[in-house]
Amino acid sequence: ISRIDLRGSVPSGAPGAPEGGGIDRDLLPRAEFDVEAALEKVRPICDDVRHRGTAALIHYGKRFDGCELERIRVPVEALRRALAELSPKVREALEESVRRARLVHRAQRRTDSEVRVVPGGTVTERWVPVERVGLYVPGGQAVYPSSVVMNVVPAQEAGVQSLAVSSPPQQATEGSYWTGLPHPTILAACELLGVSEVYAAGGAQAIAMFAYGTEECRPAQLVTGPGNVYVAAAKRLLKGRIGIDAEAGPTEIAVLADHTADAVHVAADLISQAEHDTLAAAVLVTPSEALAEAVEAELKTQVAATRHQERITEALAGRQSGIVLVDDLEQGLAVVDAYAAEHLEIQTEDAAAVAARVRNAGAVFVGAFAPVSLGDYCAGSNHVLPTGGCACHSSGLSVQSFLRGIHVVDYSRDALAEVAHHVVALAEAEDLPAHGAALKARFDWKVPR
Ligand code: NAD
Repeated sequence: ISRIDLRGSVPSGAPGAPEGGGIDRDLLPRAEFDVEAALEKVRPICDDVRHRGTAALIHYGKRFDGCELERIRVPVEALRRALAELSPKVREALEESVRRARLVHRAQRRTDSEVRVVPGGTVTERWVPVERVGLYVPGGQAVYPSSVVMNVVPAQEAGVQSLAVSSPPQQATEGSYWTGLPHPTILAACELLGVSEVYAAGGAQAIAMFAYGTEECRPAQLVTGPGNVYVAAAKRLLKGRIGIDAEAGPTEIAVLADHTADAVHVAADLISQAEHDTLAAAVLVTPSEALAEAVEAELKTQVAATRHQERITEALAGRQSGIVLVDDLEQGLAVVDAYAAEHLEIQTEDAAAVAARVRNAGAVFVGAFAPVSLGDYCAGSNHVLPTGGCACHSSGLSVQSFLRGIHVVDYSRDALAEVAHHVVALAEAEDLPAHGAALKARFDWKVPR
């Protein structure tokens, strides 16, 4: 893992310093191969799915996932079998994850607001769920049954009627029933949550399937869910054709820590997120050189002992990861705000007070006992979160992601009469006289005052 020394380079906490403390984002770690670069790779894939539908999905299933597929839709029998064969331990854990996620997401549902602007004039905001959504569940370098929970629970709590899940087909052992299907634990999670429309398609091609529709899959209005850089690029490319949540690409963890942090915990948490993807980012921001050294030493020991050490080593050595040394926590806060991490851990003295000052992050994890792994599975919070700096303008997945607010305007004749002259005045100021005429027509072409 490389070091970036920002000490002395930025006047931390200087009066009148701009938001973000004037930190140049280009100084901070970022991936070399990013969503921008992946766009050109996914464009032909999406076009192909648009024109050839299922045939294209079968082609990419072979090319990227190494599976000979005959169809993309997963038979209902496979879903039932997957749940029946699921280990009781994993089933219990999934059920607890669902229970906690429901608690948190149910509380997010906004109620309609009705405002009486004047007597006889009301504006109501009605929250209406999207009719059909496509939910992406990753399954390339790792498989994510937890992402079934994180997508499906908020969609269900929002009241979405039509839910379809897609996840890459897996290469199981030769002749196995599961060959060419999404991972059985993903299928079991779908069955557990009552989702019966599931497809075996991964990456950009799955996003295109939801955007354009195919012979087997009706197009959706919205696609949500995390994925690798190709999934994020396809979402960026097809946004508009289909709604998207946020770009939830390769995972990032930033840890803001001081001398009170435990290097063993910090290193373990950095490794836990590097485990997702060779493009995953793990960043430590600290004013403590002693902690930086201890974490470096811990990383060496812990990486050597972990199962996916190749993937983790590549992620930690990549330009997207690093240890950033800062003058003090003040400058550290400016750095993490400029970085806008998907996951931000605060491991400092008085962590809650420091966390309360964070402006940009997908999710903030406070103190020594709220590691990101908890949020990945069982905190109750959502793990589908914006990456690549998008956390400065986007939120993680929530019930709100699946709702649209419709403004319902209801004015009586008297209420309209009272404001008509203002409407006409503004219409004239914009040189749109037909707008004014629409009011005049209702009052015998005389604008009441
Ligand atoms: P994935 O399902 O996202 O991607 C697998 C698919 O990528 C394959 O099916 C294939 O179609 C496509 N692909 C692979 N190589 C390609 C290439 N060269 N060109 C075009 N397409 C290609 O699974 P994954 O790879 O394991 O990635 C999961 C990702 O999800 C990780 O990066 C992880 O960090 C991320 N994640 C993010 C969040 C979040 O909220 N931001 C949450 C969980 C997971």
